[in-house]
Amino acid sequence: MRRIDAHIHFCGDTDAAVRALKELDLKLLNICVAHKTGSAWREKAGHYRMLAEKHPGAYAWCTSFDLPDFQETGYAKRVIEELDEDFTHGRAVAVKGWKNIGMELKKPDGSFIQIDDELFTPIFEWLERNGRTVLLHMAEPLACWRPLEDHKPHCSYYKANPQWHMYGKPEFPSHEEIIAARDRLLARHPKLRVVGAHLGSLEYDVDEVAKRFDAYPNFAVDTSARLWDIVLQPTEKVRAFLLKYADRVLHGTDLVRNQLFSGLDAKAAEANLNELREETAAAERYYAGTDAFTYRGGQVQGLGLPGEVVEKLFKANARAWYPEL
Ligand SMILES: [Zn+2]
Repeated sequence: MRRIDAHIHFCGDTDAAVRALKELDLKLLNICVAHKTGSAWREKAGHYRMLAEKHPGAYAWCTSFDLPDFQETGYAKRVIEELDEDFTHGRAVAVKGWKNIGMELKKPDGSFIQIDDELFTPIFEWLERNGRTVLLHMAEPLACWRPLEDHKPHCSYYKANPQWHMYGKPEFPSHEEIIAARDRLLARHPKLRVVGAHLGSLEYDVDEVAKRFDAYPNFAVDTSARLWDIVLQPTEKVRAFLLKYADRVLHGTDLVRNQLFSGLDAKAAEANLNELREETAAAERYYAGTDAFTYRGGQVQGLGLPGEVVEKLFKANARAWYPEL
């Protein structure tokens, strides 16, 4: 196994897809997202779990947990029981919390619940005690709170999903508030392994990621859907960052192809695989290559990182932060 994509949503259940992953020497970590209150997300989780059970060399999965509805007594206890089942029998390798905590879900008093809320404390204590890894997508890129700028990263997402665009919405929590809640959680549970999805929502400056790495040894980040943000930062600065924190960054594409490939025609399934090949190749070219190339319409200089650092980014760090992977 030469590569791990540590953050993806990819339902390639066909023989052709599994074969392609083998050819790519690539294992995928599928990530569950609990989009709304309730357990509807469990259907997709079932697909991810099935893929990991049937093809453990090609797939692993990261579960999630229901959001609180604030009516239920014993919420944390139930979540812990479900996580225990996911980890023990389902062989999930981590659990994910999503941005709806912090940005969408409100408590009965009308305030936004944050990830360090005491309601979640028993869950994080249990995860910490049991040596489980948490993947947290808290907040959004900073661009979320800024006016839209064409041809910049994230613009098209907020055009398509204006409900998540926070510019001019002072009634919602700020980027700083949400990140601060996440940082308090990191400080409160020093033995809890936490991977910050999307560069920990600090994609705008690797120095900000570095500050958290220095403050919280239990924190790593994945690069999912943020390659575009990193390549825009000065080459030498990014290179120095990745050399210094070579054990703390995990490669992930965040490609979202959630329909089971067995329900797609062969052409569509092949297109999905091609996209995965291209995204993976672009990341590898950026980290390992020494030439300049075009990425998303801009010129990008390859970092030329040493082989052992590239190997950490693409495999060893995922294994270290998700030990069951
Ligand atoms: Zn994702």
